[in-house]
Amino acid sequence: MRWTQTVLNTLRDAPAEAEIASHRLLLRTGLVRKLASGLYSFLPLGLRALRKVEKIVREEMDRAGGLEILMPALQPPDLWEKSGRIQAAADVLFHVKDHQDRRWILGPTHEEVVTALVAGEVQSYRQLPRTLYQIQTKYRDEIRPRFGLMRAREFIMKDAYSFDAEDGAARVSYEAMVRAYRKIFARVGLDALQVEADTGVMGGASSHEFCVLAEIGEGEVVTEEDGAYAAAIEKAEGKPAERQGVAGELEKMATPGVKTITDLAGEKFGIAARDQVKTLVYTDGKEVVLILVRGDDEVQEAKLPALLGAGWRTAGSAEIVKVLGAQPGSLGAVASTLQGKSVTVVADMGLKGQRGMTTGANEDGFHFKGVDVERDLRVDRWVDVRKVREGDLSVSGKKLKVSRGIEVGHAFLLGTKYSEALGAKFLDPQGKQQPVVMGCYGIGVTRTLQAVIEVHQDKEGIRWPAAVSPYTVMLVTLDLADPAVKEATDRLVDSLEKAGIDYLWDDRDERPGVKFKDADLLGFPWRITVGSKAVAKGGVEIKCRRTGMMEMIPPMEVGAWVQDKLAAEGESFLRAKCP
Ligand code: ATP
Ligand code: MG
Repeated sequence: MRWTQTVLNTLRDAPAEAEIASHRLLLRTGLVRKLASGLYSFLPLGLRALRKVEKIVREEMDRAGGLEILMPALQPPDLWEKSGRIQAAADVLFHVKDHQDRRWILGPTHEEVVTALVAGEVQSYRQLPRTLYQIQTKYRDEIRPRFGLMRAREFIMKDAYSFDAEDGAARVSYEAMVRAYRKIFARVGLDALQVEADTGVMGGASSHEFCVLAEIGEGEVVTEEDGAYAAAIEKAEGKPAERQGVAGELEKMATPGVKTITDLAGEKFGIAARDQVKTLVYTDGKEVVLILVRGDDEVQEAKLPALLGAGWRTAGSAEIVKVLGAQPGSLGAVASTLQGKSVTVVADMGLKGQRGMTTGANEDGFHFKGVDVERDLRVDRWVDVRKVREGDLSVSGKKLKVSRGIEVGHAFLLGTKYSEALGAKFLDPQGKQQPVVMGCYGIGVTRTLQAVIEVHQDKEGIRWPAAVSPYTVMLVTLDLADPAVKEATDRLVDSLEKAGIDYLWDDRDERPGVKFKDADLLGFPWRITVGSKAVAKGGVEIKCRRTGMMEMIPPMEVGAWVQDKLAAEGESFLRAKCP
């Protein structure tokens, strides 16, 4: 392709709203253009890169036994009524109306549709297992679309769904998908960490996210120093750093005006946050639960559904006063102060064995000091409910690190939630009807593309991994009036085409400096320059965008040379990630 025949406009500066490097680069290179908030058009080069990512996804899905299908984006709301997600997902659902005033949902994901589809197609255990997938446009009414393709309102997802006869088989399908994910991310040039993720209300089942560690990531990932353990912050478990607590007598003390952990830690009382017990009150509208964590810890609310079930929220102060007789700021779980109060006390494991703590007395303006948690507090259940912090110890005693990550993929063992709700059943060998056991697996294809740019860039521009670069080679011709240059270019082009190497030919009438700057900005793996001086010596110049290395080689050899390098790069990515 010639530059002068495509639509490609590079910009010196990105629009001010582009906050992160990859978003700026997407716009500066003109790979995409914004239509409205969270909506982007792909221009020819952007689409080429996207198609390359899709091709890799498709190849690995097929290799793992996936069957490609395509489902409509427009979905009937009654399927979502049946699954119960019409409420649960209400805040991201886009609704549209047809001319008969009927409502439709623009699909944010396809569990409902695919389950209804399979309900009609699969009747017998002989038709299982099956994994279906599609690469399709999704719609989500994100509260805050941002960072370009990272959090868009319309984006492309690869969504796969596995259907099995029983749990063990479902796990095998799950493992096959997870293995395919590792390969996909390695092939596109991403070092994606497989992290244990929150399974929410569904408990028990497995879930993993694939995260690319990056400063601008919206998620937090907890890892052991040696990488043996990796979990999303919502799910991660850890032990807080040790504290020295001195055993003592339980003693009530007046704390007038103290409303918070920080107040008590202030000059007047000087009780460090880590020496306090934080008491939080949650309700489901009927029952009340006190959750206790150390004063310097936070409750990880994402852990609550698995511990308590769905529908818990923090209680308001009126509700709290009604049950406990005191305002937030003086709450606690000292057994004697809870007599006759109908509450359940759930304490974080990090409080176990702690002595010399301070906690509220359920009486405004009073606290207890000298608290021995196990001696003095009423604890009905010990659980893991705190949010892990940097420096905590893992379950196996290693230091934990908290990093930011971009979630590029998500795998989830669903069990029979959807198949039961939507009637996807099969007859087992004994002729008994059973619900199909499902898994679902998403890759944000457009988000993945931008993650590649976020990771592979420098101050000059993008540094594409060859596998997903819009073109493999940027051909820059200088001195085109020189017949020797013209001839060398013809030979070179011939050599590239014979080798099946795709290239963009910068044939613009621009100064070399401008062309080189754009070549660096667009960042294809290899730039080949044809100019009078080198051609006179029988060569063309190849520059590697990644390493900056330059080499002179004869024009006819270029195709084979690039082919060699391509193979080597592809292998080294795979070797590093999928030994
Ligand atoms: P997030 O936590 O980032 O909102 P999610 O958990 O809602 O993502 P899933 O429902 O698991 O996402 O969707 C599968 C994949 O689709 C995600 O791993 C992500 O790569 C991608 N994705 C989700 N939401 C968006 C979005 N608004 N824009 C682009 N890609 C998205
Ligand atoms: Mg997710």
